[in-house]
Amino acid sequence: MIDQFDFAIVGAGIAGASLAAGLARQGRVVLLEAEDRPGYHSTGRSAAFWTESYGGPQVQPLTTASGPFLHQHGFLAPRGALTLARSSELAALADFAAEFRALGVRVDDLDRDALLQRLPGLRDEWVAGAYEPDCCDIDVAGLHQHWLAAGRQAGADLWTRAQLIEGTRGAGQWQLRLADGRRLAAKVLINAAGAWADPVAQMCGVRPLGIQPYRRTVAQLQLAKGPPADLPLVLGIDGLFYFKPEAGRLWLSPHDETPTPPCDAAAEELDVALAIDRLEHVVDWPVTRIEHRWAGLRSFARDRLPVYGFDPRADGFFWFAGQGGFGIQTAPAAADLACGLLLGDPAGPVDPQPYDPKRFY
Ligand SMILES: Cc1cc2nc3c(=O)[nH]c(=O)nc-3n(C[C@H](O)[C@H](O)[C@H](O)COP(=O)(O)OP(=O)(O)OC[C@H]3O[C@@H](n4cnc5c(N)ncnc54)[C@H](O)[C@@H]3O)c2cc1C
Repeated sequence: MIDQFDFAIVGAGIAGASLAAGLARQGRVVLLEAEDRPGYHSTGRSAAFWTESYGGPQVQPLTTASGPFLHQHGFLAPRGALTLARSSELAALADFAAEFRALGVRVDDLDRDALLQRLPGLRDEWVAGAYEPDCCDIDVAGLHQHWLAAGRQAGADLWTRAQLIEGTRGAGQWQLRLADGRRLAAKVLINAAGAWADPVAQMCGVRPLGIQPYRRTVAQLQLAKGPPADLPLVLGIDGLFYFKPEAGRLWLSPHDETPTPPCDAAAEELDVALAIDRLEHVVDWPVTRIEHRWAGLRSFARDRLPVYGFDPRADGFFWFAGQGGFGIQTAPAAADLACGLLLGDPAGPVDPQPYDPKRFY
């Protein structure tokens, strides 16, 4: 006899874990994770911020709707986000601020003097900023563990070293085969495989949607002085850098987006050097040591919106993928939305239509 489930979820990152927690009381759930431990890939490599403008205006409803859950459970700590502009970029900054204000996001205009108070040593070319006071740091590991524990307590099974290699549909069930030879069956297969979302579809005979992974690099730097503990997340309106403080160090990214096949991503020296060069054009903070560097994959559909819903042509195949660079900050609302669709009760606060996989057919 093979094990039978109502829901088999492929991938135990933040996406899969959130759904396991949401579905485990409604049916028999198994969470399949190829690695030794959940969270090894993108989920364990994020920059850990929640900011409503990040990901654009069509992602903002998911981020904003996730805020209350994250606050209530103590997963957020105040940070603030500051987007910087040069004089040639003032129109772009004004458009950015106006667009998100219109959506109800708090955005304050800062002039050069106000910027200097928050960013001592700011280079002269940076003349204006848009400040989002509600941006927070997220306790990503805490959130991920919370959902893994909630799933386990509600009866979900977590199988690690459980790499799906084949799925076939017949008699209203998915017959699933793992790399180590194990077999199982599930009524619904949920594709929460992050960078591997398209390959997982293909191994199940489902048409891939063109979800592309891109490498993103972060370096942890020691500075000669600082950074200030109350430093906000600082981004460029040009989309070429962000940095934030972390336990007395600086986390810095060159905001890179290098297309890559799904893999165990590693930071490249050139990207770290580029990041430091860009930092030096923002502030006069000497870097004394690169303590740590890492990279992870951010996976996007062609329109850069996530893909949540049943595949219109593959019975019982549900997409929960394409979370790009916002998969943590949107996770609570995304999980609510997806659980509503999976259980036939899509009555949450966020309209699922923009994220429906049908848009690609
Ligand atoms: C450097 C960086 C910074 C980021 N910063 C932020 C941020 O500040 N805020 C934010 O909200 N988001 C951020 N993100 C994005 C966020 O990390 C991702 O959107 C999110 O982690 C995606 O979660 P996931 O569960 O879909 O993917 P993953 O965490 O990658 O999980 C997918 C899992 O599927 C498993 N899998 C794949 N194929 C199979 C298979 N065949 N069988 C079984 N298991 C399989 C993999 O092993 C993996 O564990 C950042 C990402 C990066 C890389």
